[in-house]
Amino acid sequence: MQAPVIAIAAIAALTIGVVPLYAEDKRELDSHEHGHVKMEIAIEKNVMTIALEAPGESIVGFEYAPKSDEEKAAVDAATKQLSDAGSVFTFPDAAGCTVKSSDVELHQHGDHNEFEASYTFNCSDMAALGSMETNLFALYPSIEEIDVDYVAPGGQGSAELEADTPTVTFAPAS
Ligand SMILES: [Zn+2]
Repeated sequence: MQAPVIAIAAIAALTIGVVPLYAEDKRELDSHEHGHVKMEIAIEKNVMTIALEAPGESIVGFEYAPKSDEEKAAVDAATKQLSDAGSVFTFPDAAGCTVKSSDVELHQHGDHNEFEASYTFNCSDMAALGSMETNLFALYPSIEEIDVDYVAPGGQGSAELEADTPTVTFAPAS
């Protein structure tokens, strides 16, 4: 009578495999949606500020406070990468934008966390800015969409960026 035992073991293994996935799909997200990054851009005179919020799941693949050396190293590497504004954003050369400051922090909210980054750029010719391309999709393939809100001299607007459309075009200044 070995067969029933094997069948029960198989069902148990299947259940163990399925339950965590189901739980993850049904998890309530109050502060963010995994795969989605929020970005706010403000341009005033020759200063541009960019703020972004990215779920840890989309950046390092987990959202608990890092415990192991490997997890801590992953968070440190992501913080360093995101702090390198020149590798995260690309602007038209004619705008003459240089990085003035960048700040990246990991904020824990219960079972979720987010990388919150802020950047300040000085641009010598903001009229030549026109657009901004982000390299976040290439750096972090788990990012599916970036929701952008911007306030530029030509007005405010919003855009949804995806991997094959990673560029925001600002409303032209009148
Ligand atoms: Zn989350």
